[in-house]
Amino acid sequence: MIPTYEPVIGLETHIQLNTNSKIFCACKADSWGEAPNTNICPVCTGLPGVLPVLNRAAVEKAVRLAAAMQAESIQSLSYFARKNYFYPDLPKGYQISQYDEPLARGGQLDLPMPDGPPRHISITKLHLEEDAGKTVHDGERRLIDFNRCGVPLIEMVTGPDLRSADEAAQYLIRLRQLLRWLGISEAEMEKGHLRCDANVSIRPAGADYLNPKTEIKNVNSIDAVRQAIQTEIERQIREVEAGRPIQAWTLEWDEDNGSLHKMRSKETEADYRYFREPDLLPIRLEDAWRSEILAGLPELPLARRARFQESYRLPAYDAEILTEERSLSEYFEAAVAAHGGEPKAVSNWLMNDVLRMLRERGLSAGQLRLLPGDLAEIIRMVDAHTITTNTGKELLEKVEATGRRPAEIVADEGLAVVADEGELRVLAEAILAENPGQVAAYKAGKLTLIGWFVGQVMRKTGGKADPQRTRALLEELLSP
Ligand SMILES: [Zn+2]
Repeated sequence: MIPTYEPVIGLETHIQLNTNSKIFCACKADSWGEAPNTNICPVCTGLPGVLPVLNRAAVEKAVRLAAAMQAESIQSLSYFARKNYFYPDLPKGYQISQYDEPLARGGQLDLPMPDGPPRHISITKLHLEEDAGKTVHDGERRLIDFNRCGVPLIEMVTGPDLRSADEAAQYLIRLRQLLRWLGISEAEMEKGHLRCDANVSIRPAGADYLNPKTEIKNVNSIDAVRQAIQTEIERQIREVEAGRPIQAWTLEWDEDNGSLHKMRSKETEADYRYFREPDLLPIRLEDAWRSEILAGLPELPLARRARFQESYRLPAYDAEILTEERSLSEYFEAAVAAHGGEPKAVSNWLMNDVLRMLRERGLSAGQLRLLPGDLAEIIRMVDAHTITTNTGKELLEKVEATGRRPAEIVADEGLAVVADEGELRVLAEAILAENPGQVAAYKAGKLTLIGWFVGQVMRKTGGKADPQRTRALLEELLSP
């Protein structure tokens, strides 16, 4: 019998916070696209005689995340620690991090499952730390860029709760959504705002012990995380089947070749000789400050998704898409309120037409010139047969392009449907008179010609006739 294996995966993520300045100095936090070593100061480059000062915004953003992860405790008192190691891109020779008294403990991230209740992925640790610089390889030379030194990071570690490469990818997708939702990180993996190391081991399915694990480093997209973990699971199964033990290696993912390389044997915590950071006071999260931060916490994505299904009677599919991004979900609610009718009608317009506009323009819903009230007004005009559906779709683009209100554009450009019954009747009669052959064919039983007659009227009106009314009128005129 072939034994079946169960993968056991834990993820360690580093999240770059979108504060204005770095965590311990006044340098800009984000150096994306800047020349190397242009965004540095004596503090973040670790020159002698300088002292770090903690950035309040970094603490606030970390507390928001901890609360959103349902942390069991957000500590009133937490401490920074020195993590000592030597690396060319770490000019101080240590990293300021948190160790035995981190900002928050416990918590979970819920992964919705297609069938059944969500999976709870436990969070074992959430702490603040500073980033190190970057080593850039240039042929035989190694170049050092210190711009990233002192960028505020949250390190967040899950328990060994994930059971497949796909689940690990799902975790990152949900985490990315949450970080953007909370407005604490841009969470773009390609830009290194969200980095992920994966701990992977396997065990016989159903076992309750943990086997030695390997750690995969340097994975910088969600697809790469999925591929790297899957590759490592398969390698471990081959090793175990061949009777070889799994060793606790650190592996590096080579994106170009889709393969893993051994970097080094893993360090242990003792190697870092942690001690309390003597240059910084502890973080005192007083009750008033804590309540102020938590008061600004929005309804979270999964709760909003459930509410959309419940109170707007939306299908799960709609609710999922409309809550992928916070500004889109807010846009939807504002449009529903302005429309006052069936929420599903607003959802249809948003998901078909507005989402396409957003993707084409690379905008988020909050950046549109087409306001929720404009969308609601356009839907109402279509429903009232004041304009045709096609005109409605064109109006979306026109409002977005000009920033003018829909009713104004309809009036100025004469886009309203031919509302006058008499006018429409004259047009329809003229078409019938001009086409005796088609009329005869229709009367002889070729009823599909009605579509052609409707098309002729639409052409004469420049697309402004209401197709249903036109059709009814033609059927009446053609009836014996
Ligand atoms: Zn600095």
